[in-house]
Amino acid sequence: GDLVAFFGYLGMLIWPTMSTGWVISIFQRGSASMARINAMMDSEAEIRDPEEPRSPERPEGGLEFRNVSFSYDGDEGVLHDVNLRIEPGQTVAIVGPTGAGKSTLLQLVPRIYDPSVGAVLRDGVDLREMTLGELRSAIGYVPQETFLFSESIRDNIGFGAHGGDVGDEEIYRAARSARIHEEVEQFPRGYETVLGERGITLSGGQKQRAAIARALAGDPAILLLDDCLSAVDADTERQILDELRRELRGRTALVVSHRMSSISDADMIVVLEEGRITASGTHEELMAEDGLYAELWRKQQLSEELAKAE
Ligand code: ADP
Repeated sequence: GDLVAFFGYLGMLIWPTMSTGWVISIFQRGSASMARINAMMDSEAEIRDPEEPRSPERPEGGLEFRNVSFSYDGDEGVLHDVNLRIEPGQTVAIVGPTGAGKSTLLQLVPRIYDPSVGAVLRDGVDLREMTLGELRSAIGYVPQETFLFSESIRDNIGFGAHGGDVGDEEIYRAARSARIHEEVEQFPRGYETVLGERGITLSGGQKQRAAIARALAGDPAILLLDDCLSAVDADTERQILDELRRELRGRTALVVSHRMSSISDADMIVVLEEGRITASGTHEELMAEDGLYAELWRKQQLSEELAKAE
């Protein structure tokens, strides 16, 4: 009898012992993850609101880079003594080889980074003296790599504009300007189509156009376009640029592009080489100078003609 009872108790103990081990393991994994999450939650943002914010008296969209130098942690510097003044409503294009610092220069405007030396000013006020909310609501930024959420197309286009409170008409207008409206209308659920893991996947070009629509939906005074048309074909690019030209009227725009033909009619073109501005002027002036810009322009014309001939 004792033997049978002993084995009976032993059998009853197996499951509780296993589950205790299981719970201890879950607990330890949880506490390790929590430590990592806490480290992230406790970290303080380097870019912060000033204690006594100032606003520009007349927010028109003028920008100025004053003696700006910048380095990412521990490298020898990406931008060196950049001076650039952009009048309200001007379109300024930045061209230059890969790695010259074009994207970095653009990222200083919405304060993704602050300059290491010098200052960036908007309508005469240092960006560091403004609240981030005020600064960023005036800016539409299309980064090189677009990020779309696993949400409806409508929410993806409207999420940044006016704190997310944006009307359908504004979204359609932005989508039309970015040349994506008709394609979206053809999706079975239109603007309510969900993207990403839970929905459909957009092509590279569609993603870029959705990101442009997102930037335009907020009706920003300053528009930053970082090579945002690299994944669309030349014809669509031309159509988008025609629309964008209309949108750019009255806005200040900083445009980075690898296709020289798309930026040749900018008010000013700036050539950036190894973090320094080496030339600036209109297309005609830069062509007359016969420097890097003229070289890049000729190379691209040649390769376009070769592509056509093929
Ligand atoms: P461009 O847009 O002209 O191609 P970038 O501004 O992207 O140039 O990059 C300029 C330089 O800064 C490159 O050498 C690049 O490796 C470096 N860089 C860019 N982003 C970072 C980062 N987040 N951290 C460190 N270095 C970076």
